[in-house]
Amino acid sequence: MKYIFVTGGVVSSLGKGLTAASLGTLLEARRLRVVLQKFDPYLNVDPGTMNPFQHGEVYVLNDGAETDLDLGHYERFTNCVLTRHNNLTSGQVYETVILKERRGDYLGKTVQVIPHVTDVIKDRIRELSDESKYDVAITEIGGTTGDIEGLPFLEAIRQFILEVGPQNVINVHVTLVPYIKAAHELKTKPTQQSVAKLREIGLQPQVLICRTERPIDRDVRRKLSMFCSVSEKAVIEERDVEHTIYEVPLTLHAEGLDQLVCDLLHLETPEPDLVDWRQFVERVVSPKRRSKIAVVGKYMDVRDAYKSIYESLTHAAASEDCGIDLKLIDAESLERGVDAQFKDAAGVLIPGGFGARGVEGKINAARYAREHNIPYLGLCLGMQVATIEFARNVCGLKHANSTEFDKDTPEPVISLLEEQHGIRNMGATMRLGTWPTKIIKGTLAEKLYGDIEVTERHRHRYEFNMKYRDQMTAKGFVISGTSPDGALAELIEVRDHPYFVGCQYHPEFQSKPNKPHPLFKGFIQACLTYRADRAPRVAADPLSLRRVREEELVPQG
Ligand code: GLN
Repeated sequence: MKYIFVTGGVVSSLGKGLTAASLGTLLEARRLRVVLQKFDPYLNVDPGTMNPFQHGEVYVLNDGAETDLDLGHYERFTNCVLTRHNNLTSGQVYETVILKERRGDYLGKTVQVIPHVTDVIKDRIRELSDESKYDVAITEIGGTTGDIEGLPFLEAIRQFILEVGPQNVINVHVTLVPYIKAAHELKTKPTQQSVAKLREIGLQPQVLICRTERPIDRDVRRKLSMFCSVSEKAVIEERDVEHTIYEVPLTLHAEGLDQLVCDLLHLETPEPDLVDWRQFVERVVSPKRRSKIAVVGKYMDVRDAYKSIYESLTHAAASEDCGIDLKLIDAESLERGVDAQFKDAAGVLIPGGFGARGVEGKINAARYAREHNIPYLGLCLGMQVATIEFARNVCGLKHANSTEFDKDTPEPVISLLEEQHGIRNMGATMRLGTWPTKIIKGTLAEKLYGDIEVTERHRHRYEFNMKYRDQMTAKGFVISGTSPDGALAELIEVRDHPYFVGCQYHPEFQSKPNKPHPLFKGFIQACLTYRADRAPRVAADPLSLRRVREEELVPQG
């Protein structure tokens, strides 16, 4: 088993996660079995409670772990399917140590950072060391070298290298080489200092990946090599990509990174097969056509808040040889109505979310999309607002709402399960991770998935209230997917609309380049056929010909 530790120097936001993931892509293309892992030095136990402004999106894994968005890059860029073991925060490390101490597991010893904290960290690396499954483990250390919080992780790596032998480990250091305009020069000093910081802790990087705006010339490479004790060919340039993050593996390959890493780790591998990846990148970079998609959310200035959604749109669009122009709309700006903002949008997407802020704007957006036959994709909260909208404006339940936004609503079309059963204060925990969904035959969903049972990732508390099922389905609301026992609505559509789909789960966590998610793919296909000038101005008659037969709306068995 071989180990690669990816550290970061000088500043944060260098795209270390992307770099680690891209290295994973390259090694997999050389037929190695790769697993990735992230260590986060912050003290939160997981990012689940962090605000998207702080931390970007929370990425959910199959087992329900709420993790850092870099794990999203790992899953999208490689074939590995991650679990909660692949993300470790300082909060979890200390939680483990303190629980052990309270149980008396340390047998009266003084509990210390070395060895007790570092042991927990090393155990986590060893957990991945399963040679029957993997050849290489890539571990990314969050934060920047020199941060106080990061020290125990770096110390654990130092010890780990001693234990497994230096021939089995490399440290890849991702660093910044800034260009100073006034001097017309790329500067190596920050990198030298951050490598010096690593050496102080007893770590010597073997590879430097230099994030830079400008090409790094021979002189700069020599200087970095000499001051940082890294061979010249191990100074790798990672310039800002021109078009898409999916170019990163290709630029790193052009710099010789994958060959270098295999040489350093004594791995014999074939040349990488990057044909499919290149084709995908080409389609992203120069698509034949373009489509404008409106995304209505709360964190429109934080690009990372809806990361997986934007990536999923890219994957789906590329599969249709289409480019995406995103129109990001703040939901609060739609509270008084929707019009001009949607004029040129070929599709409307509403992401997940928590809390009442912006909800009425999202409901207005869903109404506009339904009435104007604009393709609509609602994810989690996006499905819930579409349901509320339909209940209010088609079924005449004027006060329909979710109990999340109005505790005492007389028409709780979205509510907590325990509220539906009259139980109060049960303490609502989130439904997290993968759950099966039974797709109802004859629905658009069946066409899209081409399957009648699918598994999807969840992160929510509230559910569609089945009490309203008959009343709503009679008006053209279709429950096209349910939990296997039929008790929970997982997927909805609106009859007689070209594409109006909402899902209670998060399909965006299971989309990859060259493997777009069916709901996103269907959405993009619908957007490509949508023509604003042809769309009727009012909703189709709810009593018109049905696409789904009544008996199929009720889940069987
Ligand atoms: N706030 C909603 C719920 O808890 C939706 C959650 C989400 O969109 N992830 O059910």
